[in-house]
Amino acid sequence: MRIGVLASQGAFVEHIAALRQLRVEALPVRLAKELNGLDGLIIPGGESTSISKLMLAANLTEEIKSLAQNGLPMFGTCAGMILLANKNSDQDVAPLGVMDITVRRNAFGRQRESFETELSIPVLGEKPFPAVFIRAPAIERVNGKAEILARLADGTAVAARQGKLLVSAFHPELTSDLRFHRYFLDIVDRGN
Ligand code: GLN
Repeated sequence: MRIGVLASQGAFVEHIAALRQLRVEALPVRLAKELNGLDGLIIPGGESTSISKLMLAANLTEEIKSLAQNGLPMFGTCAGMILLANKNSDQDVAPLGVMDITVRRNAFGRQRESFETELSIPVLGEKPFPAVFIRAPAIERVNGKAEILARLADGTAVAARQGKLLVSAFHPELTSDLRFHRYFLDIVDRGN
C-alpha cells in the first residue's frame, strides 16, 4: 500500500512518520507526477491559504480534485479538512471542494487557540482519542452525504467521513495514538 502525503507546507513529516510506524509506504507529494500510483493521500495541517496557493502553483489542485472525485481515499487534517470542504465561511481559500461540509477556519478563537482533549470517536472504539487542536477549524454544517464522526462536549463537529474521504479538525499525527491513521488505512484497504 502506498500513501502519499501532500508536502507543500505544514505537518507532513509527522504523518509520514505515523504511516511508517504502521508499516506503510509513505511518500511526500510535491509534484503532480508523484500522485501516480497512490492508494491514498493525506492532506496535512498547516496554513490552508499557503497550502492552497502552493497546490495551485504546482498544478496539484485539479489533479487532486479529480482523484478525489474518482474515488481515491483522502484524509485531511486541520488545514487539510478546510481544503477538502466544499464550503468555507471565509473567502480567501480555494478549496478542493470535494466533501459536503461547511467549515469555519480558526473556529475556536483566541481563548482556545490550541488545546488537547480526550475525544469520543465511536468508530475508533470505546477508548477516547487524544485530540490536539491547533488554531483549528470546525465543521459548521453537513451539506450532503457526509457523516459526523466526532463532536466536542459542546456539540461542535470535529471529524467526518464521506465515502472514502475522511477529515479531522485536530491533529492525530501529533500523538502516539495511531487509531485514526489505521482507520484511514482500513478505508484504503477495504475500499469502503
Ligand atoms: N488555522 C489554520 C488555517 O486556517 C489551520 C491550522 C492547522 O492546520 N493546524 O489554515
